[in-house]
Amino acid sequence: MKLLPLIVAAIMLSSLEYNLPEKYSSFEEYPVYDGFDLGLEYHMDASKFKIWAPTAQKVRLHLYEKALGGEPYRSLEMTLSEKGTWITIIKENLKGKYYTFQVLHQNQWLDEVPDPYVYAVGTNGKRGHIIDLNETNPVDWENDKSPILRGYEDIIIYELHVRDMSTHANSGIQQKGKFLGLTILGTQSPDGEETGLDHIKSLGVTHVHLLPAYDYLSIDESKLEEHQFNWGYDPQNYNVPEGSYSTNPADGAVRIKEFKQLIKTFHDHGIRVILDVVYNHTGATEKSNFNQLVPGYYYRQNATGAFSNASGCGNETASERPMMRKFMLESLKHWVNEYHIDGFRFDLMAIHDMESMDLIARELRAIDPNIFIYGEGWTAGDSPLPDDKKALKRNTYLMDHVAAFSDDIRDGLKGHVFAANAKGFISGKEGLEETIKFGIVASTQHPQIDYKQVNYSDTAWAKSPLQTVTYVSCHDNHTLWDRLTLSCPEASEEAKKSMHKLALTIVLTSQGIPFLHAGVELGRTKYGEENSYKSPDHINQFDWTWKTKNKDIFKYTQALIALRKAHPAFRMTSTEMLKKHIRFLDTQEKIVAYRISGHANGDHWKDILLIFNANNTLKKVNIPKGDWMMALNAAEINTEGLRIVKGTSVDVAGSSAMILFQTN
Ligand code: CA
Repeated sequence: MKLLPLIVAAIMLSSLEYNLPEKYSSFEEYPVYDGFDLGLEYHMDASKFKIWAPTAQKVRLHLYEKALGGEPYRSLEMTLSEKGTWITIIKENLKGKYYTFQVLHQNQWLDEVPDPYVYAVGTNGKRGHIIDLNETNPVDWENDKSPILRGYEDIIIYELHVRDMSTHANSGIQQKGKFLGLTILGTQSPDGEETGLDHIKSLGVTHVHLLPAYDYLSIDESKLEEHQFNWGYDPQNYNVPEGSYSTNPADGAVRIKEFKQLIKTFHDHGIRVILDVVYNHTGATEKSNFNQLVPGYYYRQNATGAFSNASGCGNETASERPMMRKFMLESLKHWVNEYHIDGFRFDLMAIHDMESMDLIARELRAIDPNIFIYGEGWTAGDSPLPDDKKALKRNTYLMDHVAAFSDDIRDGLKGHVFAANAKGFISGKEGLEETIKFGIVASTQHPQIDYKQVNYSDTAWAKSPLQTVTYVSCHDNHTLWDRLTLSCPEASEEAKKSMHKLALTIVLTSQGIPFLHAGVELGRTKYGEENSYKSPDHINQFDWTWKTKNKDIFKYTQALIALRKAHPAFRMTSTEMLKKHIRFLDTQEKIVAYRISGHANGDHWKDILLIFNANNTLKKVNIPKGDWMMALNAAEINTEGLRIVKGTSVDVAGSSAMILFQTN
């Protein structure tokens, strides 16, 4: 390979001193670069390339004409600059060219890779693409605004994979599997049911949480005619949208523009957008961009010096190291500032240290205080990071403005997630009342809960209800419908529907942040497949005939969401408020009942009585004396009131909920 002399080096040392790895005895000794100009800075008359590679002996920049294949048309050596950075400035208009970096490490040239900060790539993310980000903005982008959100308490999350709503032949959506497939209005199933964007809008959710939409490894973007599917939990380029969701993965600008179009469309229709971020590990380990530039640094090591593996995917990143923490923060800010993203769901969040998560929350909330940050408060394996530093669920109360998924309520409702046949509260298992109560108060401290009886936690882990994400199902594991099919083989279709609706009622009336797996409103099935991360579209996709068949579940979910949005009593903002307004009633086995009293959180309903009967038979439940209006009874919902209930008891049907209220 022919090396051309340096074109320009604006910041140049008089003599190059190579930082040999031997120079450092530990990663802690690596210099920390605190500038904000890592990556490419493109201008029409010059492009500046800067990367951090403190252990490199030499660094080359390679320029290509194409996204894949061929030889570089130019390769040049970069200049060592401050704090382990390397820099090259080329005073030409490089727009349209592709680039990689290559590091000489311990006398060996490592693989060519884009830098971690790369913001545009070509096919399969192998090379950076030099583009003008200003040219990636869709029409009217300068007027794009996130819909108004009063506070976290108003959030209702809908978790969706980019492909799932459009790939079925009956979706009525032409842009199958693409970002653009979620931007089209007026699409219908053959039965005339709304699909895609109209479907999401009519449901009434406030936020769509997209499964990984950054560039990931597992799909070959050069073979899109093969209809490959993956969830995308194998990050490759963190700051770039995934190419297979675009109409042209080779052109780095196209995926950016199309993803921005999706975000703008959602915003225009009142929906905020959340990204699922997987900074906890990289799809590749030795061969990742991180590791080819600064071997080892971005990852934790176990006692033998090998990659530790708390992610269960071969490696785990080291958020406590300054340049990894800095990378995460700048990457998140890139998604907020360049793409107007409104929230982040952190995969295996407990692999990250709490200090990093607090810093992230603080800095992102300084941009927009309604950016919502939540994650899985667990790891998928052992980590060298001590538990008291991990962003574990049980440490949530130690963080500010970081929320965690409640596996307590999830498994309390349907049974242990890894025991497919196990039943939960909704399917009639006894002894889960305290767990359900714990879920209702969003994992906060409440005087009426016996924490020793809660399934997983033995203490409150949220200091505010807004730190708890309440759910019964998500992309992982079985859909709620499949789970009920597996764990209740004796149950009729109607009985399963009742249990399904009972679960949705508890999720959507509990305090905290409700979270719905897309399709749960249609009784979604993955045909019994649990870990469908790479299953074909026909397992993962929406079959829109469900909407006809399970119209009742859809209407019921829609009505529950409307109920929640109409009543601030279900959206209290502090633990003190919950303690003051929520009282649980003494009831029989497999029944949880509680009263929200005193116009809680400014609700126009003075008192609300909620009864969840998980017995599969009708139960007579004692209620406080008075005239109550019935708002919900099994599958009927009418927030104006279905009828008046008098007396000191009500009959609640098997596997169903009842909601009563008084206005004065
Ligand atoms: Ca990709």
